[in-house]
Amino acid sequence: MADKQPGIGAIVESVVGELEARGVTVDAPSAPPAFDGRGIVADIENAVAAARSSFEESAAMTLETRASAIEAMRAVMLANLERISHMAVDETGLGRFEDKLRKNRLAVMSTPGLEDLKPMAYSGDHGLTLVERAPYGVIGSITPSTNPTETIICNAISMVAGGNAVVFNPHPSARARSLTCIDLLNRAIAETGGPRALLHAVSAPSIESAQALMAHEGVRLLVVTGGPGVVRAAMQSGKKVVAAGPGNPPVVVDETADIARAGRDIVSGATLDNNIVCIAEKEIIAVRSVVAELKAALADAGAVEVKGPAAEKLSDLIFDQGSTPGKHAPVARDLIGKNVEIILERAGIACPPGARMAFMETDRSHPLVWSEQMMPVLPLVAVEAADEAIDFAKQAERGFGHTAVIHSRNIDRLSRMAKLMDVSIFVKNGPSHAGLGFGGEGFTTFTIASPTGEGLTRASTFTRERRCTLVDYFRIV
Ligand code: NAD
Repeated sequence: MADKQPGIGAIVESVVGELEARGVTVDAPSAPPAFDGRGIVADIENAVAAARSSFEESAAMTLETRASAIEAMRAVMLANLERISHMAVDETGLGRFEDKLRKNRLAVMSTPGLEDLKPMAYSGDHGLTLVERAPYGVIGSITPSTNPTETIICNAISMVAGGNAVVFNPHPSARARSLTCIDLLNRAIAETGGPRALLHAVSAPSIESAQALMAHEGVRLLVVTGGPGVVRAAMQSGKKVVAAGPGNPPVVVDETADIARAGRDIVSGATLDNNIVCIAEKEIIAVRSVVAELKAALADAGAVEVKGPAAEKLSDLIFDQGSTPGKHAPVARDLIGKNVEIILERAGIACPPGARMAFMETDRSHPLVWSEQMMPVLPLVAVEAADEAIDFAKQAERGFGHTAVIHSRNIDRLSRMAKLMDVSIFVKNGPSHAGLGFGGEGFTTFTIASPTGEGLTRASTFTRERRCTLVDYFRIV
């Protein structure tokens, strides 16, 4: 029923092959190295001071050493891919091990490094002007519970490639695996000639330590990845902020779409790590004439339809604190990131073996349409026509400007929805994760900054532009 996933061994082997082809040596350790708490201190004051001093030390690193450090960071995470992916599921109970492996692998392999920092030159009658990318210094990075290791891997690679030192404030529920990643990454940097620790964190991260980090005058740039609360708090800090906030991605299916493919892609996108990823499809909006065919395609791809009183029971379970039609509502926290069979079992609904997702046909005002549920249960809303579906998708996305998806072969509609949605990631005829470079072209990131407009962040996002002008000389033609 569900997609056949390649085994862990095959995934690791293929990544090792790719890295070795780039000339990187990957040692798969027989036993993981002992945690030595590198870069981990008791409070934010000490973390920022240590980060400042490591940043100053790192100024002596050549670009070649920095590039080697990035490759060593990739190699060490790769060698520990299985371990951190296991820890990720065990620590918070969110998501699926095999999907964590894929996401961590993607972060390791597809986050750009120094190649993203291209200098620019202007040459003319008045000489030569050079524009280069400089580090900010100490960056404060607040990371989520949903993609904790992926975010730390991505941000660490991008920020170190940009020449920065970092103080991370991981989500408290992901403390152990986040600190483990920081420790491993620091060692890799040190082993290639960098400071003993370029990445820092407090040993017991909390909302209070995140707020202290936001307020610290030694932090020049704040990068927050999380829900609306942390984005709001960061925006009020008075610092420059790169904010990667929540989403509620709609997927539209019209009557011209390849419906079998749409069904497969929706299940693939919406079930990645049990829907906790911010870009994952959260509501399906389909033209009524293809709804029956789409339901069959979803079922073929591993989704189960829940109807009638069972659907009501499931809604009551998900919105256990109540909800209002047409509004988003808090979802039951203990269902977030759980496998569909666990969620259905709690609602007393039988789940066919191998199912990865449930869906229910709802009206437009159902709270599942308006809430970022982060679990593999999706509403499906039927509408009369494609333009109506697109207009409703715009409303359902709630102005986050994050991600949207369409399945259609009508180029006017593809184009209209792309413009109207005004989102950081727009995917046509594929699963949402194709927009993250997972089954689609392009680099990856797990920090997608929609509220502040940087979109998919990368090394250059974490640098400042500096210009140097030489008057009248050095134009060589
Ligand atoms: P969360 O907002 O609960 O926590 C994120 C981080 O912010 C944690 O480290 C937390 O300790 C801190 N935090 C929360 N409230 C704070 C406050 N008031 N002051 C200071 N720090 C605060 O989010 P989560 O549950 O860990 O992650 C899920 C959310 O993050 C979803 O909304 C998801 O869409 C979003 N997300 C977005 C992206 C993106 O790239 N845009 C990536 C991952 C997750």
